[in-house]
Amino acid sequence: MSFPAALARELESLLGRERFRTDPADRAVYAYDNSRRRGQAGAVAFPLNEAEVADIVRACNTHRWPLIARGLGSNTVGATVPENDALVVSLERMNKIEAVDKANRYVIAEAGATNAAIQEAARKAGFFWPPDPTSAAYSTLGGNLACNAAGPHAVKYATPRENILGLTAVTGTGEIIRVGTRTTKGVVGYDFTRLLLGSEGTLAIITRATLKLWPLPEAVATLRACYANVDAAAGAVSRIMAQPDLPWVLEFMDAEAVGLIRNRGVELPEGTESLLLLEVEASRDGLEGAVKRLGETVKGEGLVAFEAAKDKEEAALLWQARKALSPSLRTLRAGKINEDVVVPVAEIPALVARLGELAEAADIPIVSFGHAGNGNLHVNLLFDPDDERETRAAKDTLPQVFKAVLELGGTLSGEHGVGTAKRDYVELELGPEVLQLMREVKRVFDPNGILNPGKTLPPS
Ligand SMILES: Cc1cc2nc3c(=O)[nH]c(=O)nc-3n(C[C@H](O)[C@H](O)[C@H](O)COP(=O)(O)OP(=O)(O)OC[C@H]3O[C@@H](n4cnc5c(N)ncnc54)[C@H](O)[C@@H]3O)c2cc1C
Repeated sequence: MSFPAALARELESLLGRERFRTDPADRAVYAYDNSRRRGQAGAVAFPLNEAEVADIVRACNTHRWPLIARGLGSNTVGATVPENDALVVSLERMNKIEAVDKANRYVIAEAGATNAAIQEAARKAGFFWPPDPTSAAYSTLGGNLACNAAGPHAVKYATPRENILGLTAVTGTGEIIRVGTRTTKGVVGYDFTRLLLGSEGTLAIITRATLKLWPLPEAVATLRACYANVDAAAGAVSRIMAQPDLPWVLEFMDAEAVGLIRNRGVELPEGTESLLLLEVEASRDGLEGAVKRLGETVKGEGLVAFEAAKDKEEAALLWQARKALSPSLRTLRAGKINEDVVVPVAEIPALVARLGELAEAADIPIVSFGHAGNGNLHVNLLFDPDDERETRAAKDTLPQVFKAVLELGGTLSGEHGVGTAKRDYVELELGPEVLQLMREVKRVFDPNGILNPGKTLPPS
């Protein structure tokens, strides 16, 4: 079915030609996301405020036409790929930072503001917002909230769910709802704020949010703990998490990932086969003591070296190499299945061992790195797309990775979300009863199923 002419006329008169696009070139660039999947957009709308978002949703609801909220399309799971000529509603022009309140420690921003712009506004006031995905410069607040996207600081400061106070959103019938508080305490009614986080635009379109701010640390040390093998590094992660002084960054890399960062110019002591990248934050007076205590904790069999970055340049090089790990994987194989599974921290050694067995059995490289303090590993199954055997082996290994993760008490996605990429596996984790309840919740918020249909939950 092509985009209804009557709906197009309504939206054009609401937004004008410049903000309601139907020509093929505009539709094409809003028809894919970072999953590299491609769909078909019927039209693209650029609202400037909440009232316009509500009008757009009401019009689509009247015509029973699907629509998709879009930030900047950086998600990796196909969550913004439009199907069946859906309307793409780009929030990118709703990008105001409305207030930074130091006394109450919050920032209010519109959904289309980038994570980087929010961090910059917070930084000027001496604060930060903990969710810090590597995509900060090209991902929006709405996308971060809808995917519950996080980053390295989640080990100490957690994810958007724990760093939001309230939000405004538009439901599938076009109602504007304000949920949550501006206070750090509040227990009135059901917690719709957190329900909407991670819902990938399937329950409501988020238009603005009030986010919890934290003071910037006085001093930070960047450190690396080099290990002879992944078991030794994984053992150190468990010890670090069991003691009271949490680092604010605790990143893990396996042997293949260590090889990749060496290729990018990071010099590591001989014998390093696994690496922890750590950052400790403290008061200026307390930093030395905090580093010393961490040094005691990381000691153990298999430790090759524990060292602080000599200067800012060395710390920056280490971070650049860490952030480039995902694209660097293409130097090993052109094809990758990139998962972001989570297991309880103490189960990381078991997961790493299981991944080693699966890689050997399938005869493909599996490279793991990620946010070890949260038990969140980016597991990459690599293959040559021109090699039929490797391609099949990677695809066949994926369900075995998920099975291992669930057997270890984990979850299928820590931060990247479900979209369409993992949709067919969610029942394995949730079970039929919970899945049914979720479908009923979806019907309450979006009775005609027009908001991002086909994403997150498998079809019933
Ligand atoms: C190089 C790179 C590095 C990345 N690093 C990280 C990382 O470190 N951590 C991490 O968690 N993720 C990471 N990501 C994934 C991605 O950037 C995040 O998921 C991000 O939150 C998506 O934001 P976006 O604005 O691009 O949203 P989009 O991709 O446009 O949308 C994502 C989902 O959110 C929904 N959505 C968007 N805006 C709204 C809204 N206003 N209301 C309701 N729903 C909405 C969409 O419908 C879709 O379901 C990375 C991606 C790339 C390309």
